[in-house]
Amino acid sequence: MIALGLHAFFVLALFGLCVVLPVWIMAGAFWGMAALAAGLACLSLFHFVYLLRLYAWLEGPPEQPVPQGRGLWNRIFASLHRRARQRAEQQRLLSDALERFRRAVQAFPDGLIIFNQHHQIEWVNARAASHFRLDPQGDRGQPLTNLIRQPDFVAYLERGEYAAPVVFPNPRCPGQTLLVQVVSYALGENLLLSRDVSDQERLDVMRRDFVANVSHELKTPLTVVAGFAEMLADPDLDPDPAQVRHYMGLIAEQTQRMQRLIEDLLTLSVLESTAVAQREEVVDLEALCHALVRDAEVLSAGRHHISLKLEGYIQLEGNPQELRSAFGNLISNAIRYTPAGGEIRIEWQGTAAAGVFAVTDTGIGIAAEHIPRLTERFYRVDRGRSRETGGTGLGLAIVKHVLSHHQAVLEVESQPGKGSRFAARFPASRLRHAQNGAPPWPGAGITRPVRS
Ligand code: ADP
Repeated sequence: MIALGLHAFFVLALFGLCVVLPVWIMAGAFWGMAALAAGLACLSLFHFVYLLRLYAWLEGPPEQPVPQGRGLWNRIFASLHRRARQRAEQQRLLSDALERFRRAVQAFPDGLIIFNQHHQIEWVNARAASHFRLDPQGDRGQPLTNLIRQPDFVAYLERGEYAAPVVFPNPRCPGQTLLVQVVSYALGENLLLSRDVSDQERLDVMRRDFVANVSHELKTPLTVVAGFAEMLADPDLDPDPAQVRHYMGLIAEQTQRMQRLIEDLLTLSVLESTAVAQREEVVDLEALCHALVRDAEVLSAGRHHISLKLEGYIQLEGNPQELRSAFGNLISNAIRYTPAGGEIRIEWQGTAAAGVFAVTDTGIGIAAEHIPRLTERFYRVDRGRSRETGGTGLGLAIVKHVLSHHQAVLEVESQPGKGSRFAARFPASRLRHAQNGAPPWPGAGITRPVRS
C-alpha cells in the first residue's frame, strides 16, 4: 500500500517537475494551468481504461486470465493474479478432497442414502442404488417411501425412532434380506444405512431348523424309552419275563438310535469345525476297502451280494478315519436301501486323471428331484424307511464334509426302482504309487478283482 502511494506520488511529482513547472515558467500561469489540466485528464483516461479492464475481468468468467497493466496497474493486476492463482489452487485441493471422499463413500460396502426431513432423497451411493434399484440422479428429490414401499420400512421411517435397525425382505430384490438403520446427523439431515444380511438370515434359519430337527429326532426315541421305563416301574403291573425282555429290547433299540444320532452329530460338528482334513497320511485303500467289505457283510447279514474291485493307484493321501466314515456311510446306505437279494458293487479306480470310489446298488433308487438335496442335514426321501433301517439323516452330510476336506466331489446317479451309484471323485494330486506292486502309470493300470 505504501509502495503504491509512493509510486503515485512519484509519478505526479515527475509530471509537475518535467511538464507543468517548465511551461509555467516559460509560458505563464495560464499555460501552466492548461498543461496541468491536460496532464490530469490523460492520467484520468489512463486509469479509466484500466478500471474498465478490471471491471470486465471481475464480471467475466472465473477462468478468464487477469489483464495485463502498466505502472501502478501492473502491480494491482499482478497482485490480483496471485490471489486468483491461490484461490484456484485452494479450489483444486477442495475438489480433490471432495472427489476422494466421494470415491470412498461409493466404495463403502453398505448402502448410504442422505435424505431430508420430508424423507426426500438427496444423495445415494452405488450400493444403496443397487439394494433399492434406485437411479442416483433421476430419483433425487423423490420421497423414500414412494420408492421403497415395504410396510415395516415405511412404519420405521414414519415412527421416527431410529435407535435400533429394522430388518425386512427387500421388495425390490426377492430372496434378499436387508438390515436398515437411519442416523440423524443434523437438524433435518438423515443418513440411511442398508446392509445385505441374507447370508446371516439363511444361517439363522438353518440353525433354528437344525435345533428343531435334533430335538425332534431325540424326542421320538426318548418318548418310547420313557414310556416303557414308566410301565416297567409301575408296581401294579406284573409283566411276565418274556414281555420284560421284549420291552427291554425296544428300550435298547431306541437307546442305540439316540447313540447313533449323537455320534453322527459329534462327527459332523468336528468335520464342520475345520475347512481341511487334519492329520493326513497315505491311506492304503486295499486294506481300507477290505475292512469296509467286512463291515458291510455284517450289516447285510448275507442278504446281499457284495463285490469289491480295485484298479490303478490304490494309495490316497487323506485322513483315514474321515475316509472310512465317508465310504462306510455310502456302503451302509446302499445296503439299507437295497432289498434282500440285491447287488452292491464297491469300486475304486485310480487313474492319472482322478481317483474314484464308487458304490453301486440295485436298490430302491431316488427320484431326480431329491438328488440335489440329499446332502442336507436330516434330508430323507422316505423318513419312515430311513428310521426303520436305523438312519440318522446325517450320513450324506458327513460324506459331503469329508469329501470337501479332500477336495473331492460327490456324484450321484439314480433311477427309482433300479438302483443308485454314489461316487466320490478325488483329484489326481491326492493319489500315490503303492510301495509294493505299484501300477506303472501312465499305462493300462493293474486290475485287481479282490472279491466278486
Ligand atoms: P439316512 O441316515 O436317512 O440314510 P443319509 O444322509 O445317509 O441319511 O441319506 C439321505 C437320504 O438319501 C436317505 O434318507 C435316503 O432317502 C437317500 N439315500 C441315500 N443313499 C441311498 C441309496 N443308496 N439308495 C436310495 N436312497 C438313498
